[in-house]
Amino acid sequence: MTDSIDEIARKIVARTIEKSAVLELLKVLSDSDRAALLALIKSRQLTHTTTQDGKPPVYEMVDQRDLSADQLRFIETLVAKLVQRYKKSRTAIAEHQVRFVDQRRAFHLIRDLKKMHFQITYESADGAYVQDLDGNRYIDISGDMGVNIFGHRYQPVVDAIKKSLDRGIPLAGYSEQIFEASKLFSEITGHERVLFTQSGTEAVMFAMRIARAATGKQKIVLFDGSYHGLSDVVFASRDLEGHSVAPAPGLLQEFADQIIILEYGDSDALQTLRDDDDIACVLVEPVQSRFPFRQPVDFLRELRVLTSELDIPLVFDEMITGFRVCPAGAQGRFDIAADMATYGKIVGGGMPTGVIAGSPRYMDLVDGGVWNLDDDSMPKSRRTGMAGTHSQNPLKIAAVHAVLSEIQGRSESGVSCENCHCFQKELNVKTENLASELNTYFRFSGFPIQIDCFGSLFRFRFVGRFWGIVEALFFHLLRLNGVETNIQGNCFLTTAHTEGDIREVVRAVKTSLETLRDENFFFLDTLASEETFATIGVDDEMANDDTNSVSERRPPNVLQIDHQLDMDLAEFQA
Ligand code: PMP
Repeated sequence: MTDSIDEIARKIVARTIEKSAVLELLKVLSDSDRAALLALIKSRQLTHTTTQDGKPPVYEMVDQRDLSADQLRFIETLVAKLVQRYKKSRTAIAEHQVRFVDQRRAFHLIRDLKKMHFQITYESADGAYVQDLDGNRYIDISGDMGVNIFGHRYQPVVDAIKKSLDRGIPLAGYSEQIFEASKLFSEITGHERVLFTQSGTEAVMFAMRIARAATGKQKIVLFDGSYHGLSDVVFASRDLEGHSVAPAPGLLQEFADQIIILEYGDSDALQTLRDDDDIACVLVEPVQSRFPFRQPVDFLRELRVLTSELDIPLVFDEMITGFRVCPAGAQGRFDIAADMATYGKIVGGGMPTGVIAGSPRYMDLVDGGVWNLDDDSMPKSRRTGMAGTHSQNPLKIAAVHAVLSEIQGRSESGVSCENCHCFQKELNVKTENLASELNTYFRFSGFPIQIDCFGSLFRFRFVGRFWGIVEALFFHLLRLNGVETNIQGNCFLTTAHTEGDIREVVRAVKTSLETLRDENFFFLDTLASEETFATIGVDDEMANDDTNSVSERRPPNVLQIDHQLDMDLAEFQA
């Protein structure tokens, strides 16, 4: 034997040595050498820069159940550093969790990172930056879950809210701005009538009620992978046989029974619309924020034609796409007119709001439609119930008005995306360029990661994995390197992000990944090839299920280098 143990381990991991030769070799090794070799392989203490044939490597990610002593030490040191850095934020949540309730706190929790698993407490936000209680400043790509498209403290919005505040907050009557805001909304989106709600969830919930009132039917059709808020009327998951089930305690199966979840983008699935005569509505998130790479435009067009033919109201949930991908949202971008659409986020300028917009055929079911004050005309008698104390709160309407004025002022043509000059186009290109630069870097460096984007929304997708320790560490390191994201995964650029900010984001992403690679959290997967990138999306099913941590769902792992070889090696461990 001429090679060192280290060299043999390297060859085994890189699969440049025959398995039979390995087995022979193991027989002649001393017990201590054999143990050392196995430990080396298991702990992935190998750094690879190129594969045998000189192509860029394609890395696999370490599983949290396979962490080596060195990796655990790295985590411990990192956690200690982060604990110091976010001292005040950490103390605040540790102290106040007794009273303060927030569902996100337990989301994506991984035991080894528990000490660091909390939201940062912000102190202030300005432009593209947020600052925390400990005085750390970050470039914010969390985009406030898709809200502040002009960045933080955008002056026209701040001014509008301050001005409104100075006039008091009367809630019962209307404000002049609500009329002006409705007009702007209608002009920009092309929808004739507009209703303000208190949140996006509420907008979707009420839109479903309007659809049921209009059709007299019960069932809501929606699509796998979409998110429409957490109201009982649209919150269900799909079991392996395609049945809708109540996904969490407190949700009733009776509600889930009224929801039909179809495969998104699958034309065959639409046969259900013909077969079931109790469908009140089809609700669609045109490009799902969790899967922005799915952009099934032809499917959406087919859906529009079919729902028109069957006279089923089609509702676009434009909560994230609305005013983002084009002034008229996904409907404008794809040139598809929905019967109703739901909005929120951007249009509220940071204030809580939702909006339902649509044709009089549906919206009149809320207020009886248009009638004259001076003749015998009366509101339509068929009306459904819908109200909210803060639906028309003047502070938020002032913000809505400011945002809509800005959007209209910054675009040359309104409703259609073709030949329109709007700031969104520029922002979308800025985001596409960022995604493209980083995707090239990932591909060249072998990181099994892909950024998907739609408009100014983008997401890091760890290929073939759904939320493991490597992804969690990556986001911690990003924060340490000065970039703030959101644990839920959606990232956004805003008009406030300068080219300099974007350079910083690129730098932080690269530094964070290279740290993880150097600490062997990525290891060379010699079975993988360029196809890894072509098969992006293989884990969609897992990605849909974000209620459990990876370790709770998957069986114990074996070495990922080569399962068979690993089993054979195991024989020698006894
Ligand atoms: N629909 C979609 C597509 C959303 O993304 C969201 C929020 N992320 C909602 C509905 C619910 O909106 P809100 O959180 O304002 O209630």
